[in-house]
Amino acid sequence: MLVITDEREVTMVTTCPDCTAELDHCHGSLVAHLDAAVECTEPGCVDLDRVRHTLAELTCEEVDGGCTCVVELAELLVAS
Ligand SMILES: [Zn+2]
Ligand SMILES: [Zn+2]
Ligand SMILES: [Zn+2]
Repeated sequence: MLVITDEREVTMVTTCPDCTAELDHCHGSLVAHLDAAVECTEPGCVDLDRVRHTLAELTCEEVDGGCTCVVELAELLVAS
């Protein structure tokens, strides 16, 4: 569950060079999960290709509030 704040709407108004050039791209951040799954913070994003993403790629540990995979890994470490 990724939280997107209203601040994003303000930044969307500023002109993006890729939008101006009508390039196929995404304004979300890619989030790489520990299980190798990849997710985008942009809800409508359909193509997770790294080239379409202008923002830095995150690992899910860096996402606000963390991710369920981090919890699962912690539980595994406790169990072993
Ligand atoms: Zn853009
Ligand atoms: Zn994750
Ligand atoms: Zn995306």
